[in-house]
Amino acid sequence: MNPRRLDKIIRANAVREGAGVTVHRTLGTPALRNLDPFLMLDHFGSDNPDEYIAGFPEHPHRGFITLTYMIDGHMLHRDSVGNRGDLKAGGVQWMKAASGIIHSEMPQQSAGLMRGFQLWINLPAREKMSPPAYQEHPAEAIPVHTGNGPRVKVLAGRYGELSGPIDDPHTHLQYLDVTLDSGEGFSHTLPAGQQAFLYVFEGDASVAATALPRHTLAVLDDDGDSLVVQAGADGARFILVAGQPLGEPIRQHGPFVMNTQAEIDQALADYRDGVLVQESAPAS
Ligand code: FE
Repeated sequence: MNPRRLDKIIRANAVREGAGVTVHRTLGTPALRNLDPFLMLDHFGSDNPDEYIAGFPEHPHRGFITLTYMIDGHMLHRDSVGNRGDLKAGGVQWMKAASGIIHSEMPQQSAGLMRGFQLWINLPAREKMSPPAYQEHPAEAIPVHTGNGPRVKVLAGRYGELSGPIDDPHTHLQYLDVTLDSGEGFSHTLPAGQQAFLYVFEGDASVAATALPRHTLAVLDDDGDSLVVQAGADGARFILVAGQPLGEPIRQHGPFVMNTQAEIDQALADYRDGVLVQESAPAS
């Protein structure tokens, strides 16, 4: 085993998004514009039952995938392709916006709590204008390693004998939610060439003796075949995300992520002209 080292550490910025939702953003800020194939990571949450959460009313996306993981609370959603529902705590939603989706995402508290993550995953050029696609899996469909050692929920990829339900065919995505007791260690194999990061959201951890406090994203270097994490005195909980880089030019303008400026101009024109959505729900 040749454990990877840390390449970069990003402390989260608290930013206001949507109609007044505070999110902790790491990936997708000036400190780290993107991390091929990943474009953005938002950690949203509230533990104040009196806080009004307005959510994310109708807005467009083109050219990539949004992956939403609700930890506490739930999220009402509807989109222009006809998907609508309530993503419950522990569930995961994979939405391939591709040629264009307009949707609303309205996180809701349960017992005063609401927490989750949204990750943006880029699409290869050949897929950017393809039809949208959708996968949703409830908590019961996500395997959990319990018993001896770390508690690991496998959203995508593999951990031991467990394999996650999300299939992200372009990046061979791995997405684990790992909980460690005080001082406990975690190790995992990471294929060479995969871009990988972890984000600590409870307690604190360390990699290669470098401390990672809560709300820190740690980018791993690409030299090595594994990851070793050590929890601090209060234990730790983090997500580990890895995927195959696309190696293509990235041109981003807000919710549109394409390869060239001409394609961004086209997306803006299509949105303005009301033709961003090319595949829409059957009239009901
Ligand atoms: Fe969205």
